[in-house]
Amino acid sequence: MTDVTRFHTHAPENLDERFARRASGMQASEIRSLFAVASRPEIVSLAGGMPNLSALPMEMMAGLIGKLIAEHGQEALQYGSGQGHPKLREQICDVMALEGIRANPDDVVVTTGSQQALDLISRIFIDPGDVVLVEAPSYVGALGTFKQYEAQVVHVELDQDGIVSDSLREAIKTIRFSGRKIKFLYLIPNYQNPAGVLLPADRRTEILEICRKEKIMVVEDNPYGLLGFERPSPNAMRAEDSENVIYLGSFSKTIAPGLRVGWALAPAALREKLVIASESSILCPSNFTQMAISSYLADQPWRNQITAFCKLYKVRRDAMLESLDQYFPKGATWTKPQGGFYVWVNLPPEIDTKAMMPKAIVAKVAYVPGTAFYADGLGSWSMRLSYCHPTPERIREGIKSLGSVVEQEMERRSGGIALN
Ligand code: PMP
Repeated sequence: MTDVTRFHTHAPENLDERFARRASGMQASEIRSLFAVASRPEIVSLAGGMPNLSALPMEMMAGLIGKLIAEHGQEALQYGSGQGHPKLREQICDVMALEGIRANPDDVVVTTGSQQALDLISRIFIDPGDVVLVEAPSYVGALGTFKQYEAQVVHVELDQDGIVSDSLREAIKTIRFSGRKIKFLYLIPNYQNPAGVLLPADRRTEILEICRKEKIMVVEDNPYGLLGFERPSPNAMRAEDSENVIYLGSFSKTIAPGLRVGWALAPAALREKLVIASESSILCPSNFTQMAISSYLADQPWRNQITAFCKLYKVRRDAMLESLDQYFPKGATWTKPQGGFYVWVNLPPEIDTKAMMPKAIVAKVAYVPGTAFYADGLGSWSMRLSYCHPTPERIREGIKSLGSVVEQEMERRSGGIALN
C-alpha cells in the first residue's frame, strides 16, 4: 500500500508570518469540520444542508448533458462571457418573475453559485472595519466571507417572523453613533438558513423603507424562495425596490448544487463592477453548466420538478416537527419552517450545544451547534437541525436519540445547579 504521507510537502518556515492580514480570517467553518464525523454511515446527520437529489431524474439529466455536448460541444466546452450566457440570463428573469421581479437580462450577472456572488459583493463593498448587518443567527458561509474581508459583523434580532424592524433601527443608531460605516444589510427572507423563518410582506416593506432612508443597501439572498411547502413565499424584496436591493439567486436547491450556477441581479451602477470582479477570480462562469441549466429550463417541466422537491422536503419537515414534539423535553423550543431545509432549536441557556456534540455523536446523531451562525460567540444554547437529506424514518430515529441526549444534559445541568 502506498504511504500517502510520504508525498506531503513541508510548509516553509514561518509561513503564516508571511500571509496577508486577511488570511487570519480564513478558518474552516464549524460545519466543515463536522462533516467528516457526520458523514459516517451509522450517524443520522441533521447537520449538513445538502439538497436531496433523489427526486432528480438522473437519466433525463444524463440525456440532456449528452445531447448538449453532442450538439453544442464547441460552445459548451469553450470560454464564455464574464457576465454569463445571454440565453440563461433571459431564462433567469423568467424564474425571478415567479417572485414578482421584473428585470432586464442585462442586469443579471451569473456566478459560480450564489456563494461567489457573496464574495464579489464583499470584495466590492467592504473595507476592513466596515459594518455588515446580518440576522441573528445568519448563514455560516456568508459570515465566513464577510470575516475574510475583515468586516465587523453586527447581528440584529430575529424572531419567528424574521428580522425585527425596531431592533434594526436601534442597531443602525448605535453603530452610527460610534462613527462606524454600515455597508449593507444581508438578509435571507425566505426559510432562513439557519432559523427556517419567513419574513412576511409587511415587514419586508418596513425593512426596505428603513434601509432606503438610512442609505443602506440590502443584499437579499434567496436560494430557498421557491421551496415553500404550503403556499408560495411573498414577493421578493427586489420586486419592491430595484434601486437599493442586490438580489442573489441560485439553482443549487431547485436543480442541483453540483452545477454551481447562481446569479446576482444588481442595480446598473454595480453590475459592471461585479463582472470585472468576477472575471478577476474565474474569468467566466462555466459555459458547460450554464448551458446544461439553460436546456433544462427550456425543455424540462422544471416547475413540476420544484413541486416534487417541495413534496420530498415537506414529508421530512413533518417527520422532524412531529418527532421533536414527541421526543424533545420541556424547556426546548423550535421554529416551524414553512419551507426550506432547517429547524432552529433553543435549549435552556445552561446547555452548551458544542460541548454536548460528542454525546450526540455517541448516540449516533449530528447537528450544527448554534455558535457557527454567529460572528460574536452567541448561540451556545441553540442548534440547527436540517431535515433535507435523511429519510423520514432516519429523521425520527435521529430526533429520538438527540431528544434523550438533550434530556440527560438538562437533568445533569439542573442537578448541578441544585447542588451548588
Ligand atoms: N446562501 C445561503 C443562505 C445558503 O444556504 C447557501 C448554501 N447553503 C448559499 C448561499 C450558497 O449556495 P450556492 O453557492 O450553492 O448557490
